[in-house]
Amino acid sequence: MKSQDIRQTFLQFFKDKAHSIVPSASMVLKDDPTLMFVNSGMAPFKEYFLGNAQPKNKRITDSQKCLRVSGKHNDLEEVGYDTYHHTLFEMLGNWSFGDYFKTEAISWAWELLTEKFEIDKESLYVTVFEGDEGDKTPMDQEAYDIWKNLISEDRILMGNKNDNFWEMGDQGPCGPCSEIHVDIRSAEEKAKIDGKTLVNQDHPQVVEIWNLVFMQYNRKANGNLENLPDKHIDTGMGFERLCMVMQGVQSNYDTDVFTPIIREIETITDKKYIPVRTSRDLSVRDEKIAIAIRVISDHVRAVTFSIADGQLPSNTGAGYVIRRILRRAIRYGFTFLDQKEPFIYRLVDVLVKKMGHAFPELKSQRQLIENVIKEEEASFLRTLEQGLVMLDNIVKHAATKEISGAKVFELKDTYGFPEDLTELILREHKLSYNKTEFDQQLKAQRQRGKQASELKSDDWTVLMEDQIQEFIGYDALEAKVKLTRYRKV
Ligand code: ATP
Ligand code: MG
Ligand code: MG
Ligand code: MG
Repeated sequence: MKSQDIRQTFLQFFKDKAHSIVPSASMVLKDDPTLMFVNSGMAPFKEYFLGNAQPKNKRITDSQKCLRVSGKHNDLEEVGYDTYHHTLFEMLGNWSFGDYFKTEAISWAWELLTEKFEIDKESLYVTVFEGDEGDKTPMDQEAYDIWKNLISEDRILMGNKNDNFWEMGDQGPCGPCSEIHVDIRSAEEKAKIDGKTLVNQDHPQVVEIWNLVFMQYNRKANGNLENLPDKHIDTGMGFERLCMVMQGVQSNYDTDVFTPIIREIETITDKKYIPVRTSRDLSVRDEKIAIAIRVISDHVRAVTFSIADGQLPSNTGAGYVIRRILRRAIRYGFTFLDQKEPFIYRLVDVLVKKMGHAFPELKSQRQLIENVIKEEEASFLRTLEQGLVMLDNIVKHAATKEISGAKVFELKDTYGFPEDLTELILREHKLSYNKTEFDQQLKAQRQRGKQASELKSDDWTVLMEDQIQEFIGYDALEAKVKLTRYRKV
């Protein structure tokens, strides 16, 4: 089944159960001080769960664009090194706002996976919240009883608060969850080790695919739980992981969500990607070219979707997160795929062709996305080589395992090396750096900047366009792009 049909089958299944299909909300959050990017399907519906707003239909289904690169959920370091965590991914979800509850949520999830998608029941495991006495949260007996009518009891595992209890914060709506995990190992491998022991163990072939959250409590300031008057269902299934299972492959990167991008990278760079076919291939996953190709195919999606949603790379906040992701991709291309010229922007075309029907904003913003990525690549490549030479020197002459924070700061200041990029490269050489010292230097620089801007507080400053380009760099790029867009309209 093609990924496009898998997404559609999911949405249609819940539509047939009286859910309204809604488009993904923007991934970029402008008004939420607690979150920069949507990182789960639930985020856009927060107000419904808090009771501050009422949905038109109490049943909703969607595929939400999520980005997990900052804050509580930060998967950036896994990306490229494993085969199932991405920066940007789609979370398929079905929602009940004070309507149906556990019985339907569980039995429909089971029906969809085992009947509609025909996933072998013998490859699935489910988890149920075991309870936490210290925290006054009871075991989820209800979910257990529903599951045991659907799946043999030795496939139901008990999970702790970390994996099986969801809360928005110290107070407010919360509840237990049940997760569905799938074991995609070969029969031979399965015979060797019981899949049960590999659930939630970061095994690349025994992966979590779906999380069903049962929002039934309100946590009070004193830590006590009270029942919510309206109980809600919040589910999230990783679309790319579902595609991996449905397409019978061993890695998200071997699904048709990624293969067209990977083929394009191979063509441009003249390097070959080794797909993961057997568990043996997973042991060569440290192979640098494969990692670089996975990183780039992942990151180009994150950056493309982000720009389409209005978040351009910049030097602060959410914009800096996007810039860091892109620079990480550029550096992998430079070091491991020998790409000394911009090339990531050339992948946008195939991505838009592949995803444009589901996410029309990609189509309408295509030109902007390509321009921004190309400029960003050109600009970073100009200093990357020099910066890498400097970093190489630092590595060669390192007297201790810990590099000074001032050096890492200088790389950021002079060559635009984001801190985490330097950290990554140092880690490749088994080195670390003095973070405290780095933070001090950064703080001092910000302080100097603040003082400088306070000194020159004219009413306004007129800048000519090339001055802007020369002196303000990225912000100028943003301004220019906005102008072009404006003119087009
Ligand atoms: P994991 O334990 O694998 O990191 P999670 O428990 O953090 O996943 P949830 O917050 O429960 O994930 O999100 C719901 C679903 O979204 C997961 O079951 C998984 O299928 C998918 N998912 C989560 N993180 C990612 C990611 N970084 N890339 C792709 N899919 C993801
Ligand atoms: Mg996670
Ligand atoms: Mg998990
Ligand atoms: Mg989970």
